[in-house]
Amino acid sequence: MTDNKNKYHRYTLPIGKMAPDVWEHQKALARKNLSPLFAELITKVKRPFIQVITDLISPNAVFFQGKVLLVGDALATLRPSSALGTNQAARSAMNLVAVLEGAMSFEEWEKRSLEFAQMARNVGIQREALFNLSPRPAENPTAASEQQKDSML
Ligand SMILES: Cc1cc2nc3c(=O)[nH]c(=O)nc-3n(C[C@H](O)[C@H](O)[C@H](O)COP(=O)(O)OP(=O)(O)OC[C@H]3O[C@@H](n4cnc5c(N)ncnc54)[C@H](O)[C@@H]3O)c2cc1C
Repeated sequence: MTDNKNKYHRYTLPIGKMAPDVWEHQKALARKNLSPLFAELITKVKRPFIQVITDLISPNAVFFQGKVLLVGDALATLRPSSALGTNQAARSAMNLVAVLEGAMSFEEWEKRSLEFAQMARNVGIQREALFNLSPRPAENPTAASEQQKDSML
């Protein structure tokens, strides 16, 4: 994203940096593509900023025979529409108690962590579709991330 001083931003365009003509274009897109409620919200924003939303789930949560574990946002970056990022982090931490007490294997912990991440991701996609926010959900989160990278470069 290029700001009003011609500086490139990869993930966040901060408040005050939006080029006026770009924002007018974004508002036109919102009016064309979004539901009336969301379009109205966008068009009434006085100090816009943009945050790119990425979507990625690690294929593994356990590394080096359980010496390194991924939880929370490190395991999966979920879309804001899922609103499940905190649940994901807490759930992995709570399940880890069972692993440390010997009641659950690392394999089972990883399986549950990845299943929850995938479920949470799907919730986000379904909610975006419900509100007409995401017309093109990708099947593969890793591929989606690569596509997003490509489109930003
Ligand atoms: C605006 C916003 C709204 C959200 N709303 C919701 C919601 O409604 N519901 C929901 O479930 N989730 C929501 N989330 C997502 C949720 O906040 C995250 O998914 C969750 O906090 C992830 O927890 P985490 O422990 O993985 O990471 P974090 O909470 O990001 O914790 C990582 C910690 O590591 C620290 N850290 C980073 N680098 C280093 C370093 N090098 N050395 C030491 N420490 C370091 C950071 O300071 C931070 O304290 C929201 C997020 C945002 C930004």
